[in-house]
Amino acid sequence: MTVPHTPTRSTRDYQQLDAAHHIHAFVDQKALNAEGPRVMVRGEGLHLWDNDGKRYLDGMSGLWCTNLGYGRKDLAAAASRQLEQLPYYNMFFHTTHPAVVELSEQLFSLLPSHYSHAVYTNSGSEANEVLIRTVRRYWQILGKPQKKVMIGRWNGYHGSTLASTALGGMKFMHEMGGLIPDIAHIDEPYWFAAGGELSPAEFGRRCALQLEEKILELGAENVAAFIAEPFQGAGGMIFPPQSYWPEIQRICRQYDVLLCADEVIGGFGRTGEWFAHQHFGFQPDTLSIAKGLTSGYIPMGGLVLSKRIAEVLVEQGGVYAHGLTYSGHPVAAAVAIANIKALRDEGVVERVKVDTGPYLQQCLREVFAGHPLIGEIQGSGLVAALQFSEDPASRKRFANETDLTWRCRSIGFDNGLIIRATGGRMIMAPALVATRTDLDELVSKTKLAVDQTAREIG
Ligand code: PLP
Repeated sequence: MTVPHTPTRSTRDYQQLDAAHHIHAFVDQKALNAEGPRVMVRGEGLHLWDNDGKRYLDGMSGLWCTNLGYGRKDLAAAASRQLEQLPYYNMFFHTTHPAVVELSEQLFSLLPSHYSHAVYTNSGSEANEVLIRTVRRYWQILGKPQKKVMIGRWNGYHGSTLASTALGGMKFMHEMGGLIPDIAHIDEPYWFAAGGELSPAEFGRRCALQLEEKILELGAENVAAFIAEPFQGAGGMIFPPQSYWPEIQRICRQYDVLLCADEVIGGFGRTGEWFAHQHFGFQPDTLSIAKGLTSGYIPMGGLVLSKRIAEVLVEQGGVYAHGLTYSGHPVAAAVAIANIKALRDEGVVERVKVDTGPYLQQCLREVFAGHPLIGEIQGSGLVAALQFSEDPASRKRFANETDLTWRCRSIGFDNGLIIRATGGRMIMAPALVATRTDLDELVSKTKLAVDQTAREIG
């Protein structure tokens, strides 16, 4: 059991103080202040409790990050031990420390052998900032400084900092301004929305060929890398057709463009494989990681490099002019080690692959196949999306799909369920320690919310 929460202030007090001092993420602040945010005070396994004692099933693992669920004493103990022993030191000026070294030992034991080096950060956004600087540096060292354009995808998400926002393809975020140059985008492989008459396989190839067209338009000599999430997370848990990734990989290899996978959501077991690129069967040159690295218990991210890149940086690169005060922070590293050990030694990732993952996917398909509101069910392991559709047979989308999915999300909240609405999709990603009982609760509460939304539409 986690430490019980004894309320010290009323929810209204918290909300008033919150409104006085915070600008929240991705929300109309004035509207939020009028309503008041929920005040979460405690978590255990997949469940959260708010300040008024209401219990929620967290179907989103926080923000796709609490892979081990809430209330893990081993992670808390690892942090506490490290805090007492060496709460801080850095990796500047010819120093290192056991926690970060042992974390890398664990991390690279999970990864295929063509990955060798990591640069640690505090977040996924920073991992992608480091990515841009590092791949540009790689080509600079190889005598190709003009090879610096990064290609991302529309509706991709790579973070909220200046460069990671530019790299992502969220147009409403771009509208805030302040982007960086030398970034280009191609379309997302969202078959339900844009596939038209093409089969998923044909559409997947068509979307991949856009990369080739973009490289030829920009000139391969100017393109440093292509970055994408193996499946889009914030964009709506969009799984590309099977034909997509092999073709993308072929194009990157053909034009000597680095292939960069953003594994911030997909990493550490989400799809039932340790990393989502393994689920799709391609071999990226870099991996951006965060979230599940520490199960969200403490901030940590990183950029993983293949030997090909690391060798150039190490053998020919001279000074790597980059460093963060908290890169490889010992307390974060200690938590990450405990997290990886638990995911592996307790068979958590394996269970997602062979048991709970297939169970969730099967339950969703049984419950929602033929549902009048649901046009597509996608997912693998413990990540899934339900696509709302006005006419599933013709894949017609509702003009007001965002209103409908947000309504569905609110009904869920009222019934003690946290799932997320993104565009026309309801998305879920429960903690990887979910039991079949937790998943039954997730599916039945989701059904309740979707059914009530359908009734309200009439
Ligand atoms: N990359 C992906 C795929 C993400 O989903 C996110 C966050 O949701 C990020 C990067 C940014 O990570 P952070 O919020 O830790 O900066």
